[in-house]
Amino acid sequence: MTWHNSLQWLQTLVAFDTTSRNSNLALIEHVQSALAGVGVQAELMHSPDGSKANLFATLPAQDGGVQGGVVLSGHTDVVPVDGQPWSSDPFTLTQRGERLYGRGSCDMKGFIAVALALVPEFLAMPRRQPLHLALSYDEEVGCMGAPVMIDALVRRGARFDGCVVGEPTSMQVVVAHKGINLYRCRVHGRAAHSSLTPRGSNAIEHAARLICHIRDLAEHFAAHGPYDEFFDVPFTTLTTNEIRGGIAVNTIPDLCEFSYEFRNLPGMSAQWIQAQVQEYVHSQLLPRMRREHEGARIDIEPVAAAPALEAAEDAAITQLVRALTADQGTRKVAYGTEAGLFQQAGIPTVVCGPGSIEQAHKPDEYVELAQLQACERFLRRLAQSL
Ligand SMILES: [Zn+2]
Repeated sequence: MTWHNSLQWLQTLVAFDTTSRNSNLALIEHVQSALAGVGVQAELMHSPDGSKANLFATLPAQDGGVQGGVVLSGHTDVVPVDGQPWSSDPFTLTQRGERLYGRGSCDMKGFIAVALALVPEFLAMPRRQPLHLALSYDEEVGCMGAPVMIDALVRRGARFDGCVVGEPTSMQVVVAHKGINLYRCRVHGRAAHSSLTPRGSNAIEHAARLICHIRDLAEHFAAHGPYDEFFDVPFTTLTTNEIRGGIAVNTIPDLCEFSYEFRNLPGMSAQWIQAQVQEYVHSQLLPRMRREHEGARIDIEPVAAAPALEAAEDAAITQLVRALTADQGTRKVAYGTEAGLFQQAGIPTVVCGPGSIEQAHKPDEYVELAQLQACERFLRRLAQSL
């Protein structure tokens, strides 16, 4: 059989509409059967409801060894195109000049396409260490898929020497990003006719107090640090981005729901920050609400969390990727990736992939041909070094 090159693989991958709200199974099963065609048995790790899957495959070392080696990691889902003005069909890879347009071309099917295109070459190389492919689902909605795969690998005692997450970095080496932690909060008060205000407990007003407290914490970190000047925003941020409450202009609202997030610097504990929020709820806000209404409640549930990344400069994978890309810069980025999850599982990880984050998530997302070629050279040499 003839194996696809990078461009053909990218065409194929972009054509699957793997917007996070959709299943990614068609794409995953297509890759699985293509790999089977060249003798690589890929394993699927499904989402709890079975509608999506991660794919994990090992290209063993020359001696058949499957432990150690490097993981090439990418997410298969893409962000929606709803309401975006595209010049061509987002799910048909379209070349105009030196650019390849399509949803996911940059974030991050480009990296996956190159890795897949090189599989036959990887298999033919006399490698002393294995190479692994890890494709996840639901990264864009809060890194829901990768933990399922990483947990399964850790449970069975799989060991890896390093991991490259191929998010778009223009083929530069990204060694750190912040953590992302998203929470949903429901404030339960008591309804009343607004002419009888003292009989109610106004959920919106109490939610507002908590939101302002979150804002105060954010201002504290902005004013007092800790700081890491390598980040665009060099401190931990907290923000409330959604709120809903109330049913009528003359009714005391019994429910207010809002979502807040914080993005912590790698050195700062996400648990500690959340504990500051909880402490305010339990020591101040809830006692105050319960004086109005005994049954008042504030429920806070975690929606998504992706740990921060801080790669060790002396880790073998950091040094290898730096050598292969000739990039010695210290780059720490604002966006989150799955790299923190691999790092947390004890796998030294860096982020390096084709395309610019500037094009990610936008209408007319594209990757430059030269970026795919640079990624090919990079992955070929990375595999040769094994
Ligand atoms: Zn991405």
